[in-house]
Amino acid sequence: EVTIGIVRERLSKDDCNQGFLLDGFPRTVPQAEALEAILTDLGKKIDYVINIEVDSDILLERLTGRRICKDCGSTYHLVFNPPSQEGTCDKCGGELYQRADDNAETVGTRLQVNIEQSKPLLDFYQEKGYLRNIDGQQEINKVFGDVEELLGGLK
Ligand SMILES: [Zn+2]
Repeated sequence: EVTIGIVRERLSKDDCNQGFLLDGFPRTVPQAEALEAILTDLGKKIDYVINIEVDSDILLERLTGRRICKDCGSTYHLVFNPPSQEGTCDKCGGELYQRADDNAETVGTRLQVNIEQSKPLLDFYQEKGYLRNIDGQQEINKVFGDVEELLGGLK
């Protein structure tokens, strides 16, 4: 209820008259239904719901690869931004560690919950005709380009 109240208040502001983008909301069907009611009240509508699709094993790799320097807090990623020497910070030589909530088991559980929660939401928006799927396994610039192309078609 608190989140929905915040969304209603924010979408009522003048800078949303030309359009707005919500990231990570709604997360559940009841929230999506509440959003529909808010938009009806405000005389606004949803153009698209953008679903950036990535296989769960690739998400797991992305999410568990983060390493942080104990000394200076610099962040690395084993696949996308690896340190030049394994386990050691390039900037200060400090030891790199993995945050407890970045481990495979915790992330795997979080992902599973997320997937289970998203499925009915995707079905809900598919039925309404809003859903647009974008391949999130392409290069980041290509993903951005696809989103841009979709939004560029709006008036
Ligand atoms: Zn460091």
